[in-house]
Amino acid sequence: HVVTKKPPTPSPLRNSKFFQSNMRILVTGGAGFIGSHLVDKLMENEKNEVIVADNFFTGSKDNLRKWIGHPRFELIRHDITEPLLVEVDQIYHLACPASPIFYKHNPVKTIKTNVMGTMNMLGLAKRVGARILLTSTSEVYGDPLEHPQTEEYWGNVNPIGVRSCYDEGKRVAETLMFDYHRQHGIEIRIARIFNTYGPRMNIDDGRVVSNFIAQALRGEPLTVQAPGTQTRSFCYVSDMVDGLIRLMEGENTGPINLGNPGEFTMTELAEVVKELIEPSISIKIVENTPDDPRQRKPNIAKAKQLLGWEPKITLRQGLPLMEEDFKQRLGVSKKA
Ligand code: NAD
Ligand code: UDP
Ligand code: UDP
Repeated sequence: HVVTKKPPTPSPLRNSKFFQSNMRILVTGGAGFIGSHLVDKLMENEKNEVIVADNFFTGSKDNLRKWIGHPRFELIRHDITEPLLVEVDQIYHLACPASPIFYKHNPVKTIKTNVMGTMNMLGLAKRVGARILLTSTSEVYGDPLEHPQTEEYWGNVNPIGVRSCYDEGKRVAETLMFDYHRQHGIEIRIARIFNTYGPRMNIDDGRVVSNFIAQALRGEPLTVQAPGTQTRSFCYVSDMVDGLIRLMEGENTGPINLGNPGEFTMTELAEVVKELIEPSISIKIVENTPDDPRQRKPNIAKAKQLLGWEPKITLRQGLPLMEEDFKQRLGVSKKA
């Protein structure tokens, strides 16, 4: 008994089942921390072909090594401030350094990536009729005067400070997205991502969770930047990837906050890392950097209602999941 598989009926319509079930997906910044986890998830679906465009400024091929050579995967070394010609159905636009020490390293380049890079990706989306998702940030709320932050809040951002290349860059990127949507009918999605952590974070990128875990494993004091009462809300990366895919596949443009509403002061975070990873470690207060937001916590009512999404992994569950990855990359075994 031979079963002959009926081939799908080719159709010229982009929205036909044929095209929808064979997705060509571009991930800009796919060699980075969140991008590489997103690629892992997208590659699980055999109907997806994934193209990553990355200039490897903060990302690395190592994050994608299991996909290199895979027939449904392609990696392009490309700087998105230059035009890019590919044929795709969806664009997850993540390319942009996310850690303050990297985005402040070459601030002009950061703003070019946000403005010219986003414009190029929108030009691409316009030419090929692709849907495009921008990973914006909670930094668009600046040092917020409303707490927790809802999507309706317009923010409190210094336009000329050392963080502005990133904060204002993302605000312009959001503006570009909505203008291409209104003027050219591009299908857009905007996620406002709050602090995210997990395996493959850059070890020395200065972000608080990666700093504390690396310090704990190296047996160094945890550096809490003064005053230590400032708060953040930390989302585990698998929850974030789930939220991004739901947003892309759903019907709402956003902006939608994606983050974990569990709020911690930096002193509390240090205490949790100390307790879970290395109880003998000390905690020291060090100098802070300018314009550090004093509090941050997402209101995720919109994500819950529109995407049926909320984070599943608590900070206490997520931190130990990073430990093994950091130990391997640091080449250290936990201090006895
Ligand atoms: P990351 O630095 O690990 O990844 C960014 C990737 O973009 C890297 O692979 C880098 O090489 C690439 N890139 C940078 N500039 C580029 C350019 N001009 N051309 C091509 N590639 C370029 O950062 P991440 O934490 O994975 O963040 C991904 C996205 O999510 C960013 O857009 C970031 O703004 C956003 N985001 C992240 C967080 C977070 O907590 N991690 C919070 C808010 C928003
Ligand atoms: N662009 C790109 N890939 C494409 C199409 C356009 O990188 O497939 C770039 C293009 O070079 C331009 C930008 O996207 O700089 C914006 O394109 P748009 O068509 O909106 O503007 P125009 O080309 O008319 O300036
Ligand atoms: N921070 C800290 N110790 C560190 C690094 C950062 O206490 O070693 C603090 C920093 O002052 C800020 C918070 O942690 O209040 C989050 O900083 P991060 O750079 O991780 O992210 P962002 O400021 O972008 O939220």
